Amino acid sequence: MSIRTVKQTLARVLAAANPEVDDLAFLLGQEGPEESQLIFDAADRTRRQFMGDGILLRGIVEFASFCRNTCFYCGLHAGNSRISRYRMSSAEILESVGKIAARGVRTVVLQSGEDDGLDPEWLANVVSHVKERFDIAVTLSVGERPQQDYALWRDAGSDRYLLKIESSDKALYESLHAGRRLETRLRCLFDLTTLGYQVGCGIMVGLPGQSLRHIAGDLLFFAESRFDMIGVGPFIPHPETRLRGEQPGSVALTLRTVALTRIVTKNTHLPATTALGSMSRDYRREGLLAGANVLMPNFTPLQYKKLYEIYPGKRCVSEPTGACSFCMEGLAESIGRIIDYSRGDSQLTHTTVPARS
Ligand code: SAM
Repeated sequence: MSIRTVKQTLARVLAAANPEVDDLAFLLGQEGPEESQLIFDAADRTRRQFMGDGILLRGIVEFASFCRNTCFYCGLHAGNSRISRYRMSSAEILESVGKIAARGVRTVVLQSGEDDGLDPEWLANVVSHVKERFDIAVTLSVGERPQQDYALWRDAGSDRYLLKIESSDKALYESLHAGRRLETRLRCLFDLTTLGYQVGCGIMVGLPGQSLRHIAGDLLFFAESRFDMIGVGPFIPHPETRLRGEQPGSVALTLRTVALTRIVTKNTHLPATTALGSMSRDYRREGLLAGANVLMPNFTPLQYKKLYEIYPGKRCVSEPTGACSFCMEGLAESIGRIIDYSRGDSQLTHTTVPARS
């Protein structure tokens, strides 16, 4: 396939409001370095045009590792008895948020497994205290919950919610999540949007059974839904899961997916994910050069960080808490960009998640 065909396809995708799935799958499949570079360069130009050169920071606190789910890829799945589980107290969470704020980072992501022991009132209280004490945006990421919980947390002051769809293909999604339905995930995304949250979504690349057409379908889903943030990371097999023997997702395909996500969504915030930084080496720099504009320093206290093992080899689990934010300054500088210490709110006028239930 000639470079000319790649350029023509790229031009069609860049110009289209609703790109063709065949064009997206074709570009995703371009493994040659010259072809890939064309895609990365187009994404980088789009990123500069719509988002500028600033790299936003979202400080993450993984506050509990209990989970009722049995996702076949995740080390925190309910059946994994080999990990020690923890729940941070509200005082510990507030202390961690204090460290984020003291570093000048103005977003905290409070993440946990889908914890049956999570009392919605307790989390609402934590959010209220965070908002009282710190000038910081709060993103919650605690999975699928009833609409009234989302409403309670929104009333308490939460600004954003992160719920990755993992795959927008019903059969693929349901093959990885026993007993769970894609429609429930979509219903949650719809509820969150209706409640006025800035909504983050995302997928994993390289899931067993996932084809280029599946990923192209995810890109179309992103293009039509207009999320405020989209995380794209490689699948990393965990030894205590059903998928232990599978190959990890390809870095090159992940980077092309990040780039095409930028191209089709234009002004969505895209992190260079921690998973991308946890491969044979740290590929977040390449992510930032392929359309990403966000980094997520980890502020989980050291004693808990290594217990939140969603996949093995997670970046910086032995670094002192918050050290990542310093190293991110160096990373930004190395590619002629700067860390932007603003809140980094949504650039969209609205998010429209299609209700597909
Ligand atoms: N429970 C919340 C939820 O369901 O959204 C948030 C926690 S969940 C552990 C956070 C993310 O970890 C998932 O959305 C998934 O994309 C990612 N993850 C889990 N296992 C992974 C793996 N083996 N490789 C790469 N990413 C993984």
